[in-house]
Amino acid sequence: ATPTSIMAGSGRAAELGILFKGGEHLEAAQGIEVVVLDKTGTVTSGKPVLTDVIPAPLMTQQSLLRTAAAVERKSEHPLAEAIVAGALERSKALPLPEAKDFENLPGYGVSARVDGRPVLVGTRKLMEERGIRIDPAIHPMRLLEDAGKTAMLVAVDGKYAGMVAVADTIKGTSREAVSRLHQLGIEVIMVTGDNERTAKAIADQAGIRRVLAEVLPEAKADEVKKLQQAGKRVAMVGDGINDAPALATADIGMAIGTGTDVAMEAADVTLMRGDLNGIADAILMSRRTMGNIK
Ligand code: ADP
Ligand code: MG
Repeated sequence: ATPTSIMAGSGRAAELGILFKGGEHLEAAQGIEVVVLDKTGTVTSGKPVLTDVIPAPLMTQQSLLRTAAAVERKSEHPLAEAIVAGALERSKALPLPEAKDFENLPGYGVSARVDGRPVLVGTRKLMEERGIRIDPAIHPMRLLEDAGKTAMLVAVDGKYAGMVAVADTIKGTSREAVSRLHQLGIEVIMVTGDNERTAKAIADQAGIRRVLAEVLPEAKADEVKKLQQAGKRVAMVGDGINDAPALATADIGMAIGTGTDVAMEAADVTLMRGDLNGIADAILMSRRTMGNIK
């Protein structure tokens, strides 16, 4: 391709809301064989909503939600925001007590003290590591996860106290966007820190066949590296601070324009619209510019 055709291609891409940081990325996009999609905020809207509050026996819904929300008020995670917003709506949970000694446990959850008692909110792995028995939670948790919800367990004073669940639905355009990538002969993989069941349920809804679940924030880049070592040219698509190392590692990093600045800085391309159709558009624009299709 000539410098002129690359400029013209970049201009046409920009009209579609696809911003390439340089001509070399427009040239490289045609060679992508695997697209790795982050789940939350990329495949899904990233605006989870509190759907279920299930207290353990002897606990009330009100005190469970109030305790969990008090801790989550100190976290900036989208899951945390959903729990706090849900508590504010159900005003019986108010006012929230002040949490002390807050700790963020990336990929696992959060911990703090509420009314002087230690509280944990997070994954089953977190509870297992802290020696908390969660037998009564297992069955209801599976049901929530099979519906594509993220269930978070709550422990108070070292004992299981209940669970809260949030639902984050796929974007209306995700299924079509994945199908277009499949039609272009590209493999699509979803990567997430969320658990296997929830991830599979969401992937099914989006038509994604391969899922890497329970990937810790810092391990997303390693998954990209593994695919590259297997000889694949990989595009990573994400919106979060967590995604930045993987965006920088991939042959092409694509950030969602509605996501974080950190992701956009690490990426080679920004998809200004949240719509994942921008991925196929970018690849087609590259193929056209490079003269591989008319
Ligand atoms: P994702 O890749 O989906 O953004 P993360 O790696 O941030 O996921 O988190 C993985 C899992 O850890 C979440 O699905 C949730 O179960 C748990 N988790 C993370 N942050 C929190 C939080 N603030 N409160 C409760 N659980 C959390
Ligand atoms: Mg995300």
